[in-house]
Amino acid sequence: MTSYGEAENFDFWKLALRIHELSEVGSKEFESSNIIMGILQSHGFKVTRGFMGIPTAFKAEKAIGSGRPRIAFLAEYDALPGIGHACGHNLIASSAVFSAIKSAEKVTNGTIMVVGTPDEEGSGEWAGSKVIMAEGGAFKDVDLVLGSHPGDGWNVGSQSLAVQDVEITFKGVAAHEAASPNNGRSALDAAILTYNAVNMMRQHVRRDANFVMHGIIKEGGTASNVTPERAVLTYGIRTSDLDYHKELMARFMKIVQGCAIATETTYTVKKIGPLFSTTKINRSLSEKVRESLLARGVQCPTLDETFSLQPHGSTDFANVSQVVPALEVGFQIADEGTPWHSRESLEAARTKRAKEALSIVIDALSDVAAEFTEDKSFRENVERDFRSK
Ligand SMILES: [Zn+2]
Repeated sequence: MTSYGEAENFDFWKLALRIHELSEVGSKEFESSNIIMGILQSHGFKVTRGFMGIPTAFKAEKAIGSGRPRIAFLAEYDALPGIGHACGHNLIASSAVFSAIKSAEKVTNGTIMVVGTPDEEGSGEWAGSKVIMAEGGAFKDVDLVLGSHPGDGWNVGSQSLAVQDVEITFKGVAAHEAASPNNGRSALDAAILTYNAVNMMRQHVRRDANFVMHGIIKEGGTASNVTPERAVLTYGIRTSDLDYHKELMARFMKIVQGCAIATETTYTVKKIGPLFSTTKINRSLSEKVRESLLARGVQCPTLDETFSLQPHGSTDFANVSQVVPALEVGFQIADEGTPWHSRESLEAARTKRAKEALSIVIDALSDVAAEFTEDKSFRENVERDFRSK
């Protein structure tokens, strides 16, 4: 049996602080995942390192009684480059690990799993690992997925925006800009035209679809007396409607094509990372988790109250929610309006307030997991909600 380091005497808070301190960035979370695997192994979970061929991913499971149903908690443990755990993924890791350990104590029949899902922030080679897992069939045999995410408020599910990042490279023809500009074809012109055309498109999109398109010109030439022969743009294209996302991508590609024709340049398109989906909400599951939070004194808004707020984020958890009933509960560790991915959220991820919220999440999620294994009608409701559009 492989043994992993540093498993001794870790409780949920010590783990959260240790991962915060390690601050390993996406796809390089070797020590963080190692500690987590060690803890789970010491609690009788069977651990597989490198799940789905992703080096810092893992799967841990513990079968109890009949081994059915199967419930997976998703752990994230990647930090943001340059700043650290300013998205609080150290808390997500601890929540998954200790919700699973607690669930295994409460359940009489079922399999409790923890899946380690690296690089949610998309900084490394295995960016958006949950997409790779969801598409690769990692959740085929799973009946329920539970996750959590810290933030500036509580919620039992919120909308997320589908997003695709793309990089466009235009290729022109270099020439002396004073002596023979007639021979030159400017890749920078193509990039600027694209940038402006995208801005014109903004007026002619659906207002209900939460369209967001953010872009930069990464490269635009090397010297003012040389026609720029290479220009590079990157864009993120987001909307809360997955079908509409396809349409927007097609319109964007028409813009790029048109601008290349107009400037007599050529172009290549590269997708950066996988498409993050929109989140599929499971109402029965959300309501059950909310009940459990309310019973613990948390003033958690209803699903409809959360839905009345404008969605702004994107997550690879959404892709999991498309293939298996899933819920990511949002828990409050900072005052409403606190900016995320900031110095404030970095500090918030290791405060007493975070510790208290995390402890509530662990209790609530393990209760819901236990109920899922025992209550057949709850299970059927969750499955029915999942099948309905
Ligand atoms: Zn995050």
